[in-house]
Amino acid sequence: MEILPGLHRIETLLGNRKLYQHLYVGDRVILIDTGTSDTMGEHIFPYLEKLGRVPADIDMAIISHADADHFGGNSALKRAAPHAWIACHAFDFEWISDPEAIMEGRYNQFADMHDMSYPEEVRSFLRGMMGSAVVIDLTLTGGETIILANGRPLQLLALPGHTRGHVGIYDPVEKAAVLTDAVLWKGLPDVDGHVVMPPTYCHTETYRTTIQAVAQLPIETLCLSHYDLLEGRTAIEDFLSETQRFVDRMDSALLEAIAESGESGLTLRELIDRVDPIVGPFGDASAELAYPVLGHMKEFTSQGLVRAGKIGNLIRWWKGENSEARIRT
Ligand SMILES: [Zn+2]
Repeated sequence: MEILPGLHRIETLLGNRKLYQHLYVGDRVILIDTGTSDTMGEHIFPYLEKLGRVPADIDMAIISHADADHFGGNSALKRAAPHAWIACHAFDFEWISDPEAIMEGRYNQFADMHDMSYPEEVRSFLRGMMGSAVVIDLTLTGGETIILANGRPLQLLALPGHTRGHVGIYDPVEKAAVLTDAVLWKGLPDVDGHVVMPPTYCHTETYRTTIQAVAQLPIETLCLSHYDLLEGRTAIEDFLSETQRFVDRMDSALLEAIAESGESGLTLRELIDRVDPIVGPFGDASAELAYPVLGHMKEFTSQGLVRAGKIGNLIRWWKGENSEARIRT
């Protein structure tokens, strides 16, 4: 449906979760994310037809970030609209251009040093969400302005944290933003509103900055990929406070776990088991905490709050030289 002049929001499903797609239609047709390998054929093209348009009318797809459910439709888009440009942030370019690279670099990143990897059925589910490799046409850095129509600029924002190269769109005329997964509340809800997956941010320092940057924009309508539409300052500020609160709870739960860990330190899996009951619990999806836990541990290590080391092949963390100072504050 057209939620604001020129901004269309299309509800789709990803398993038991919602996945919203966003399409700007003005002098140009600009799609934000291509979804999974089925999304273009099942949802976007039929929606365009209802508007009296055809797939080849799509001028550009901006891929918000490197995740299987956000760029999996790239090859379907290129088949139907060969002239459409696909753009993404330079930092996520490699993973978005190559499904095999993201399978290894993102989804299998915990295998060697943390002995955690997705079961085969999850790996094939993830791989199945992405079509064949598609070369990206344009890299972005944030700060670009895309002219949807005369008097209708769309500002591209770099919003790192969930991934290094996450981008979002801010529309100053409508005070509306399409930010997909840039801010992730206290987790991802299923269709009934129950939180079923943790917020999978990976880069803690930049995620904090992104939450603040979004809070400072005068957004009145906030469109995210896995949450119902947020309208009005109160709803948006509540969502962002809850997003920040999760990061703060992770901070204290992890530092407490490390403080109590003693001689043997803790592995990634052990840290997840300690914090899951406090920040979740996330049940079957608790392993997804690997992303934010590792993000926090990297930040703590750089601050001297924890010390990382290896026993055998596994990385462990212990209290760092600055840990007492932090615990007292
Ligand atoms: Zn994502």
